[in-house]
Amino acid sequence: MQNVLSESPFGAGGFAGSLTGQDKGRTNLPPGTGASGGATTVTRTIADIRARMEACAKDGVLVGLVPTMGFFHEGHLSLMRAARPECTLVVVSIFVNPIQFGAGEDFNTYPRDFDRDFEMAAAAGADIIFAPAAAELYPDAFDTMVVPGNLAEGLCGAARPGHFRGIATVVAKLFNIVRPGIAYFGQKDAQQVAVIRHMARDLNYNVGIRVCPTVREPDGLAMSSRNIYLSKDERSQASVLYEALLEAKAAASAGQTSAAGIRRQIKRKIASQYLADLEYVGIVSPDTLEPVSEIKAEVLAAVAAKFGRARLIDSMTLSPGGDNA
Ligand code: AMP
Repeated sequence: MQNVLSESPFGAGGFAGSLTGQDKGRTNLPPGTGASGGATTVTRTIADIRARMEACAKDGVLVGLVPTMGFFHEGHLSLMRAARPECTLVVVSIFVNPIQFGAGEDFNTYPRDFDRDFEMAAAAGADIIFAPAAAELYPDAFDTMVVPGNLAEGLCGAARPGHFRGIATVVAKLFNIVRPGIAYFGQKDAQQVAVIRHMARDLNYNVGIRVCPTVREPDGLAMSSRNIYLSKDERSQASVLYEALLEAKAAASAGQTSAAGIRRQIKRKIASQYLADLEYVGIVSPDTLEPVSEIKAEVLAAVAAKFGRARLIDSMTLSPGGDNA
C-alpha cells in the first residue's frame, strides 16, 4: 500500500551513497520530491509535476525519467535501478497509453496493479510516480501526433500500424512535461529504442537516452507484463524465442553470413513449438532497422510471435564470426 514506505527518503535502493559533493550540499530541493527528504510520492496531474520539475530545474537537479505502462517486473526495476545512482531525482511514469494500442488489441485487459507497482518502484528508489489519467494526457480535441518515419515501418510497425506514432507521441509529451536530463528504456523493445533515439535527436530534445539490457526469466524468456497471459503450456514453449535467437547468434559467430539462412533457422526453431504463431523474423541493421542480406557487421535479429493471446517480442544482436569478424 502507498503508506508502506521505505525508511530511506530515496527508497530502499537509496542514493545517499552515490551523492556527489555538489548534491551533498543541497538542502533546498523542492518539497514533495523524494530528493527533498520525503518518501516516494504520487502525482497525477501535469500541473503538479510541472511545478515540481520547474523547481528542480531552477536548482539544477538531474532528473531521470523511466517511462512505463506499469505492472512491474524486474525489467522495469532494472531501469529504475540504473537511474537511481545516476540521477538526483528519479521519476517513473505509469501510463497505459491508449493511442499505442490498435483496435482489437489488449488495451482494456492490459494488466494493471497500481499499489503493487508503487511498492516495487519505491523499493527500487523512485522519488516520484507520475500516473496521469488518460484524459489528463489526451483531453478532448487532442489532435497532434508525433509521426516517426521509416524506423516505424517494418518489424512491429508492419503488424501494428500507428503503434510507434502512439509511443513517440506519449514519450514526447512526457519529455516536455518532466524535462528529464536522462531517460531510460529497455533494449527488449529494440524498435522502440531506435524510434525514440531518433525522435530525441530529430526534434532536438535535450535528453540523454540510456538503454538497459533485456532482463530474462531463468529459462531465457524476456520478462514482459504480457507474460501473465501465458497458460502453463504456452509459458513453457515461449522460451523458444530466446533459444532461437541464441542459436542464430552462435551460427553468425561460427561464420554463417546469409541473413536468409539465419532467418530460416530461426523460423524452423520457433515452428518446433506448436503453440507458437510466428509473426516475423527480421535480420536488420541495428541503426536503420533496414533488412540486411549479408551479415558483415553487427545486426539485430528480432522476432515476434503469439502464444495464445500473448504477443511476445524478443531480439538479440548477432556479430559476424569466422573470416568476417
Ligand atoms: P512497458 O511497461 O512494457 O512499456 O516497458 C517500460 C520500459 O521497460 C520500456 O523501456 C521497456 O523496454 C522496458 N522493459 C520491458 N521489459 C523489459 C525487460 N525484460 N528488460 C529490460 N527492460 C524492459
